[in-house]
Amino acid sequence: MAHFIVIGAGLGGLATAHGLLGLGHSVQVYEAAPILREVGAGLVLGANAMRALQQLGLHESVHPLGSAVTSLKLFDQNGRLLQNADTSVFTRALGFDNVGIHRATLQQALLQGLPADTLVLGKPFEGFQQTPTGVEAFFTDGTTAQADFLIGADGIRSRVRRQLLPATEPRYAGYTCWRAVVEAAQLELPEGQSGEIWGNYGRRFGYVPVGNGQVYWFACLNSPAPQNPKFRAYRVADLQREFHSFPAPVPALLGLTRNEELLWNDILDLKPLRQLAFGRVLLLGDAGHATTPNLGQGAGMAMEDAAELVACLRHTPLITDAFRRFEKRRLPRTTRIVRTSWQLGRVGQLENLLLTGLRNTIMRLLPAAVSQSQMAWLYEEDNKE
Ligand SMILES: Cc1cc2nc3c(=O)[nH]c(=O)nc-3n(C[C@H](O)[C@H](O)[C@H](O)COP(=O)(O)OP(=O)(O)OC[C@H]3O[C@@H](n4cnc5c(N)ncnc54)[C@H](O)[C@@H]3O)c2cc1C
Repeated sequence: MAHFIVIGAGLGGLATAHGLLGLGHSVQVYEAAPILREVGAGLVLGANAMRALQQLGLHESVHPLGSAVTSLKLFDQNGRLLQNADTSVFTRALGFDNVGIHRATLQQALLQGLPADTLVLGKPFEGFQQTPTGVEAFFTDGTTAQADFLIGADGIRSRVRRQLLPATEPRYAGYTCWRAVVEAAQLELPEGQSGEIWGNYGRRFGYVPVGNGQVYWFACLNSPAPQNPKFRAYRVADLQREFHSFPAPVPALLGLTRNEELLWNDILDLKPLRQLAFGRVLLLGDAGHATTPNLGQGAGMAMEDAAELVACLRHTPLITDAFRRFEKRRLPRTTRIVRTSWQLGRVGQLENLLLTGLRNTIMRLLPAAVSQSQMAWLYEEDNKE
């Protein structure tokens, strides 16, 4: 059995630790943050992500903590229905729900069940050195750690990736996004229904139930450059002004939001990489294939990565070969997700009124069966040889 270092205790790093321990390997996860605080807003784990959690033996502990999402309704700014995607079709076909869940709840669930000494907090990773027989990791506090293999699960700004591929930088998608999770039981939103409103002038709003009467919402606006000081200063009242003409439940959800609950991030991704396996080092999750959130697959891809790594290690005894197999099997799918999500974001953020009208007409006329078949690949298993 081998010893693995995992850099990053995000969703991908924790799921991977479960998978490796399940195979009998020893694992040490190093996380930069001194405590795992309640950060992040909501997530959707598609049926594919829930299947990956099942493969990792984590489905039963995660599923009850979220809320099943059975439909995604798309509206225009006047509240007219453009599309009604029945996502329960995929649930029936795969046997797994699509689940809305708070990111912090999911992170805690992944943390539980790991032996207490698996995780080292407050340990920012700085770099590594790879030899024919092992890997040495260096931390900013001057300490080092040795292992047989190292997994970079340290997110979109991965330092592991920066050492391997110094030229790769996150790319800005052209829009910026506010998010929150609010207590919204009193709104009595239809059970299992998530919604998105594609408005005019690049305004977009979405919401998903995440369980216990809580609803996750996001609101996007175009911004030519990232880190716009005007948007940095935005509070709930500014969003209420920007989205004042949006239909229910938008005003109510904003009305239930406190300023301190508001998260703001520019939307970034990573131009698809050609390599994830580098000898004894592997990139995984956002470190290897960060995506814009338009398909709701960022966390799902990290869960699939962890499950696929386990499958590769089971199939291929030599671990460096298993890493290469992982790369071969994951890159086509993650690349497609990143590219499709990028394109979908461009359509959703259209500003020109003529193009917006055309887009909305096409969406309205698109038969449900066609949009469903377009979504089906999201839930497919990885391409099997
Ligand atoms: C704070 C936060 C909030 C998020 N909120 C949402 C959300 O609300 N909705 C959504 O759809 N997606 C959200 N995401 C993104 C989503 O969680 C990811 O797509 C998905 O979880 C991929 O997981 P990951 O483990 O690859 O990366 P991440 O979840 O980004 O985790 C990476 C981890 O590595 C740690 N790390 C980074 N650098 C170092 C270093 N040098 N040394 C040690 N550790 C390091 C980070 O602190 C983090 O814990 C969020 C990510 C983060 C970090």
